Parts: sequence; C-alpha cells; structure tokens
Amino acid sequence: MPSIDFESTYGVIIIQDMNIVSVDANYARIYGYQSPEDLLTNSNSFLDLISEDYHVAACQNYRDTMSGQREPRGHTYTNVDRNGREFTVFTIDHLTEWQGRPALQVTVIDLSPAIELQNLVRKQDQMYYDMIMQSAQGIIVHRDFKPLMANPSWVKLQGGKSIEQALKLDSILDLIPQNNTNDIRKHYQAIVSGELSGTSTVVENIGFDGIHRFFNIYDNAITWEGEVAIQVVLEDVTQKVLLEKQLVHQANYDEMTNLFNRRAIYEWFRAHLVSDEHLACMLLDIDDFKLINDTYGHMVGDEVINVLADITKRNVEQVGGVAGRWGGEEFIVFIPNASPKVSHQVSDQICHQFNQTEFKIGEQTRFNVSVSIGVSDSRSCEGAVSIDALVNLTDQSLYQAKACGKNCVCRA
Ligand code: GH3
Ligand code: MG
Ligand code: MG
Repeated sequence: MPSIDFESTYGVIIIQDMNIVSVDANYARIYGYQSPEDLLTNSNSFLDLISEDYHVAACQNYRDTMSGQREPRGHTYTNVDRNGREFTVFTIDHLTEWQGRPALQVTVIDLSPAIELQNLVRKQDQMYYDMIMQSAQGIIVHRDFKPLMANPSWVKLQGGKSIEQALKLDSILDLIPQNNTNDIRKHYQAIVSGELSGTSTVVENIGFDGIHRFFNIYDNAITWEGEVAIQVVLEDVTQKVLLEKQLVHQANYDEMTNLFNRRAIYEWFRAHLVSDEHLACMLLDIDDFKLINDTYGHMVGDEVINVLADITKRNVEQVGGVAGRWGGEEFIVFIPNASPKVSHQVSDQICHQFNQTEFKIGEQTRFNVSVSIGVSDSRSCEGAVSIDALVNLTDQSLYQAKACGKNCVCRA
C-alpha cells in the first residue's frame, strides 16, 4: 500500500463533567468557530461537536477513561462543525487536571484532507482500472511470460473465453509459434535489461481458438508488485500483414503456376551468385505447345503448363534449387552447386514424369505432352557470369534438344 502524505492541524479540547472547559484556537477553527470564546459561548456540551451516531460511544469512552476502567487511547469519530459539515477526526485522550479536578484532554486531528486524498487516489485507481478494462487494445502484464494481468480485449483478441483462462496460462509463449519463441525470449531480455524501450514489433500468435493472428505489440518494462514485469499493449494487424504478404507474394510469384516470376528469378540469381558458388541452370520449353492450344483450347493449355510447373518444382526443391516461369510455356531452374550428375538426373526425371502424365478430356480424349530441356553450368560461361550469359548458354542446349527431336535433355 502506498503511504499517504498529508498535512493536518490538530486542536486540543479539555472536557470535565462532560462539559467543555477549554479549547485552543486550532480546535475552534477546525469546528468552524472564530475563537475559543466563540465556541465556548455557543456549545453546551462536547456532544454538540460529535455526530449523533457516535454520542453513545463518546460518552462511554469519557466515563470509562475517567473512571480508569480503560487506558486512554486513540479513536476515530465523525464530527460535525458549526455549519453542519461532517468530517472525520482522529482523537487521542489524555487524563489531565482542570482547576484541581480530573479532566479529559482530547487532541483532535482533522483527517479530512487525508481521506479526501485517499478518495481521490481510489477514484483515480478506479478510473485507471476502468480505462485498462474497457480499452479496445489488448493489454497484458507478464513476468518471464507468466501472465499477471490481462484485460478483456486481450482475451478477445486471442480468441479466449475469460480473463481466468488467460491467467491460468503458465506462459504466453504457448501462444507463439515454436520457431519464433527464441526471438521472443531475446526481445524479452532486451526489454528487461533496458537495452530496448518504446519499440513496436509485429508478432504472430496462435490464439486459444487455434487461429493464427498477427499483432503489433508495444512492450515496456514496468514495476509490478515491486518487481520488474512487462506490460504489453497489442493491436490486431492480421488483415494488414496478410495483405502485405499477399502483395509480396504477387510481386514475386507467377499467379498461374505459383512459381517465381522473372523479377524474383533475377533477384534470386543476384543473391546466390557468390564467388565460391556455381549454379546449374535449366531451361524447359513444352514441345508443340501451340498445337495443344489449337487442338484443345487455352484452358487445357493452362492445365498442361501447371502440371509441368508442379513436377518441376517438386523435383528441383528436393535438391535445393528454385524454379521460375521464364515465359509462356518456358521455365527456368537454378540449382546451387549441383554436380552435372545431379542436374542431369533432375532434368531427366522432369522430362520423363511429364511425358508419362496422361491428360484426359472427357471420357474419350487422352493425350501426353513432352518437354525439351537445356542444361548448363555457370562454370561453363565464358567471361563474367551473368544471368543473361548463363541463360544464353542454356538456351543453346535447349535449341539442341529441340533439334534432336524434342522430349529430351541436352547439356552445354
Ligand atoms: P516448340 O516445340 O518449338 O516449342 O513449339 P511451340 O508450339 O511450343 O512453340 P512456341 O514456344 O512458339 O509456342 C508457345 C505458345 O504458348 C504460344 C502462346 O500462344 C502459348 N502461350 C503462352 N503463354 C500461354 C499461357 O499462359 N497459356 C496458354 N494456354 N498458352 C500460352
Ligand atoms: Mg516456347
Ligand atoms: Mg514450346
């Protein structure tokens, strides 16, 4: 509990035979009188200064203390000032003498400022609590990922049912895909150590309902019950992240085949052609594709392109390569550091699997298609290796494959 710092005056009254026999200036002022004389002339009994609810207790206390039945002590009473304002006082009794006879000296401390301050603090606490609880942003406080507090928005954003469910979690890392937990732990350490502050990060969460969502989180180190903890404020940015992912995907992938587009292939090439690496390259071109379009229509042509795309991707990815759509019915492949044996094997498999695929139109029509493949290696380029030089070299092999009767692989 935080201590309340307040200043208050105290006044002194002396009571004898239940009558007020003396008050000091402070006492008179606390009770709304101009002076001690003013109070003495206008009050008959000290009970006039005490709220009726406390009359019995005050009389009993006076008698018990005066008769020595109990030790003088401190009390809290509600008092009434001259204007009828009720306020709380703390009183401390002392046995004393007045004109040679026993009397009770009572020191009165006006607690109103402290109580007002306490009420204000309580009100502010309540307002802060309401603000947190009604916030549309999700808020959670955790220490070493163990939740200490969560608001309803956080629970809702995580697809949960109740705050209790959230607080029962041993670790909020349970809501983070496993391959991201190490990064999140490092982030936590950086926040706790003060290395990072006031940053926002996008994180992926798997909610209580199993749904993946993306949140922009703002996290800060705070003191919670005397120890460091992390306050996390989060907002759902799933739609935005998915849209961005979709845009990035659209910028890099061919819509029809879902292979890399030309732009992405150029970028991949730039990133991978480092001095100690060589690349095997393949160009694939479907044989007599025009005829397929003309005979069965473009829709069937598209289907044929997609089938070759799938076969190519599957075979190439197994050996760490990438495939892209180079043009209409032409694909390109790069395999880093592939031996001639591997590149030949992969291209043979693609050629064979594609030619073995039977296409059906209705019950009657069945046909097979073939592909010609040219293969080369960046080490065979004369002069500096560039994508254009490598593609030209590979294109010569493709040309040979076509010249050799198609449905085959030729290498430079
Ligand atoms: P070759 O054996 O010599 O390669 O003969 P080809 O008929 O395949 O000749 P070419 O490469 O000139 O023909 C490619 C055709 O592919 C021309 C074009 O109309 C068609 N095409 C290009 N893109 C698409 C596409 O996305 N869908 C379909 N259905 N056809 C396409
Ligand atoms: Mg072509
Ligand atoms: Mg062709």
